[in-house]
Amino acid sequence: MVQHKKIYLSPPHMSGNELKLIKEAFRDNWIAPLGPHVDAFEREVAAYAGVKGAVAISSGTAALHLSLIYLGVTTGDIVFCSTLTFAASANPILYQRALPVFIDSEPDSWNMSPQALERAFEHYKMKGQMPKAVIVVNLYGQSANMEAILEICQRYGVPMIEDAAESLGASYKGKKSGSFGKFGIYSFNGNKIITTSCGGMVISDDEEALAKIRFWASQSRDPAIYYQHSELGFNYRLSNISAAIGRAQLRVLDQRVEKRREIFKSYYQAFSKRDGIKFMGEPPNCHSTRWLTALMVDSARTGVSFIQIIQGLAELDIEARPVWKPMHLQPLYKEYSYFQHSEEGSVSDLLFQQGLCLPSGSSLTKKDIERVIKSISEILRTGHKY
Ligand SMILES: *Cc1c(COP(=O)(O)O)cnc(C)c1O
Repeated sequence: MVQHKKIYLSPPHMSGNELKLIKEAFRDNWIAPLGPHVDAFEREVAAYAGVKGAVAISSGTAALHLSLIYLGVTTGDIVFCSTLTFAASANPILYQRALPVFIDSEPDSWNMSPQALERAFEHYKMKGQMPKAVIVVNLYGQSANMEAILEICQRYGVPMIEDAAESLGASYKGKKSGSFGKFGIYSFNGNKIITTSCGGMVISDDEEALAKIRFWASQSRDPAIYYQHSELGFNYRLSNISAAIGRAQLRVLDQRVEKRREIFKSYYQAFSKRDGIKFMGEPPNCHSTRWLTALMVDSARTGVSFIQIIQGLAELDIEARPVWKPMHLQPLYKEYSYFQHSEEGSVSDLLFQQGLCLPSGSSLTKKDIERVIKSISEILRTGHKY
C-alpha cells in the first residue's frame, strides 16, 4: 500500500488572496465576462512584461489564433513554428487553413535553432513564397535565442509571435520573455507557473492591433444600437472571475519563479554529475523560470531509459512526463515540411528520445523533492527492476 500523497508534475498553487478578489467580484456582481478585474489584470500583466498593452483571452491557444488572424494568416499561407512544443502552438495555424513549417531546436537552449530558421527562410525565399509569421516557443520556462532569431526575422521582414505560454516570468538580456515579438502570448492554464484555471493573454506594443484583437475576441460587435457585425467574431474573452484569480497569482509570480529555480537546483545537485544525465541548460543572458525541470537520460550510459524512470516513478505515485513529442513527428503534422538544426541530425528527435520532465510545482515541499530524488536514485540503482 502506498502511504503517501501523489506528487504531480505541475499542479496549481494558490497564494491565498484569490478568494478575496473573487469575493469582490461577487459583491459587485461582476460575474459576466469583462469587468474591472479584467481591465486591471491586463494593465498589470502589461506593466510586468514591460509592454504598452495586453488583452485577456480565454486561453493561450485562442491568443495565438487571434495573433495569426491579425497578421493576415489565411488559407495556403506558410507559418514557421518551433517543432519541439505542445500542439497548441501549431494548431491555430491549421485553424486558419495555413501550412505550418516546423523548425528544429538548437542543443543549447532546446529552443528554435537560428541556423534551421535561416535555412527555412532561404528555401522559401527561393520559391518566392515567404511565410506570414514565425511562432517561436520558449520551452519549459526558457527564452529562445531572441537576438539571433529576431535578426533573421527582421532581415526577411516577417513578424515574430512569441509563444511565451511556458515562460511568463523569464527574461532574456534583462527583458521579459514575451515582450520580443510583434505579439507575445501567455497561458494561465492550470499547469502553468501562474493560473486562472483557464485563460491567456496577448501582449504587444501595438495598441491599435490590441484594440482589433479585443474587438474580435468579443464577437466583433460593431458600434451600433442594434446587433450588427461586419467581421467574423469569436467568444474568446476572459471572465472577470478568472481575472480576479490571475491578479492574485501575478502578485506572487516572482516568488514562484524563485521556488521553481530552487527545485531545479535540488535535482541538479543530485544528478548532474551522473554519467549519461544532462539537464536542459541555461544559456548566458537567459534567466529561466525552470517552469519544468527537464533533462536527458542516455540509457546506453545510465542503464535505464527515461521511460523506465517515468514508469518507475508512476508506481511510486510520482508524476513525471516525457518532453513534448515534436510536431514533425505527430501523425497530424507529419506531412508538413521540417528543417533540422544541421546535417548531422535532428536535435528535437534526440531530445524526444531521451528527455523527461520532473515534478516542478512551486507547492512541492522539501520532503516531496527528497522523495522524488530518492525514488529516481533507486530506479537508477536497480536498473531494470522498474
Ligand atoms: C500551454 C501551452 C499553450 C496553450 O495554452 P492554453 O492556455 O492551454 O490554451 C500554448 N503553447 C505552449 C507552448 C503551451 O505550453
